[in-house]
Amino acid sequence: EPRQDFIFRSKLPDIFIPNHLPLTDYVFQRFSGNGDGDSTATCLIDSATGRIFTYADVQINSQRVAVSIHRLGIRQRDTVMLLLPNSPEFAFSFLAVAYLGAVTTTANPLYTQAEIARQANASNAKMIITKQCYVDKLINFQNDGVLIVCVDDENGTVALADGCVSFTELTQADETELPKPEISPDDTVAIPYSSGTTGLPKGVMITHKSLVTSIAQKVEGENPNLNFTGDDVIICFLPMFHTYAFNALILSAMRTGAAVLIVPRFELNLVMELIQRYKVTVVPVAPPVVLAFVKSQETERYDLSSVRMMISGAATLRKELEEAVLLKFPNAIFGQGYGMTESATVAKSLSFAKNPFKTKSGACGTVIRNADMKVVDTITGVSLPRNKAGEICIRGDQLMKGYLNDPEATATTIDKDGWLHTGDIGYVDDDDEIFIVDRLKELIKFKGYQVAPAELEALLISHPCIEDAAVVAMKDEVAGEVPVAFVVSSEGSQLTEDDVTSYICKQVVHYKRVKMVFFTDSIPKAPSGKILRKDLRARLANGLMNL
Ligand code: AMP
Repeated sequence: EPRQDFIFRSKLPDIFIPNHLPLTDYVFQRFSGNGDGDSTATCLIDSATGRIFTYADVQINSQRVAVSIHRLGIRQRDTVMLLLPNSPEFAFSFLAVAYLGAVTTTANPLYTQAEIARQANASNAKMIITKQCYVDKLINFQNDGVLIVCVDDENGTVALADGCVSFTELTQADETELPKPEISPDDTVAIPYSSGTTGLPKGVMITHKSLVTSIAQKVEGENPNLNFTGDDVIICFLPMFHTYAFNALILSAMRTGAAVLIVPRFELNLVMELIQRYKVTVVPVAPPVVLAFVKSQETERYDLSSVRMMISGAATLRKELEEAVLLKFPNAIFGQGYGMTESATVAKSLSFAKNPFKTKSGACGTVIRNADMKVVDTITGVSLPRNKAGEICIRGDQLMKGYLNDPEATATTIDKDGWLHTGDIGYVDDDDEIFIVDRLKELIKFKGYQVAPAELEALLISHPCIEDAAVVAMKDEVAGEVPVAFVVSSEGSQLTEDDVTSYICKQVVHYKRVKMVFFTDSIPKAPSGKILRKDLRARLANGLMNL
């Protein structure tokens, strides 16, 4: 047994977390019965249409949708896939499914037909809630008896596709007919997909307990780590299908009574205009958005003085960018959050606490409360003291239950003592602050979006002229990292870089496209057959690609 002498905890004291409650009971606890929350306060604002939904509206709409989808046959533990852009309907659907004790699997609506099919089949989705413009990617499902619900076109100008149920109709039911299933804290409520530390994307089973714990770790207690209040307006352009937005922003905001301004996608000038118009106080970002603000010549045209917090997460942020962006937001404090689909939030900057601690730029936060963190030597597994880099491991009730139908991958990610191995390399400094310095796992992050090398390698190898292939990350100024491929073409083939990139391009969402192809004689592998990605990354760094 390797020694485990060094375990790090939050500087904030532990709190009581009511994680025996089902998610919706917890999130709306203050806004139902005799709670102290104001149900007439704004909960969601749809920037696309200007619609405003109060806390009462959000609960009623979600409950009505729950009644309707139950009537359409969705039962406890059934899976519903959301294939929606950021919208209030996304939130209503997610909450409706949670009320029923059913499970939401979230996917990028821009996925190709094949990517959607893989996830819908793997998660056994019984219903898909989407928008008209994506329905033609779902034809096969309709034939297989999967129910398709379509969010209506705002102007009512486009007729609903054949066989689809209208979302507006779902909101007409009587909410008092809401079924009351017996929900256990360990029941799964969401299955986002993530490739974790290795291999193909897998279903991440997030339970009611994991989500309630994760929200509470951030926003609860006398000195909450993330001090959202009823006066905050939080802008959400980060994709709601990713847990960063859904857990750390929307659900956490709802627990605190804050308002969330939902923006369908990031467009810099529109976002600045919205910040000014709605006096946005909290701006959650990913590193490419920070870069866009820093590079923009037009920030001075907008009044950005309402912003008091800017939170960055999802990928590594250069320290210089952090300092540069603050010049554009005169009243904001800046900090990072660090987390992973499987682990929920691991660390959050204590500069966002109600009684903040002084923090350093470049740090990705301090471990969340009610959790243990350690840094282990990647070879010996021994836990390391401060200022020594190793793999970050995290333990607590916020972790996923496991990967769907994949006990083997679960066991290699969460060990028998309950430690989740993140695959990130970092260290804890003398002030408990965490710095991420490298990634042990093969995951590539393009603007914070996941790209799983194994998925692209499987596609590459399916090409008749490709013998073998490996995909690794190459550093990129704008995207952070981009996927590039090393390819061994079959003997006598005339395969070109263009052939390879266009072959992949048709099969995957835009950020998974292979940006460069290097032809090589062989892919370096360990005796076990594992690709030696480190060697390939070193070849990229040294300009020795076409060996
Ligand atoms: P995902 O499951 O898509 O949220 O990806 C999680 C991974 O993103 C982490 O394991 C890290 O590799 C990376 N990541 C997330 N937040 C940060 C951060 N603040 N700094 C550096 N890397 C991060």
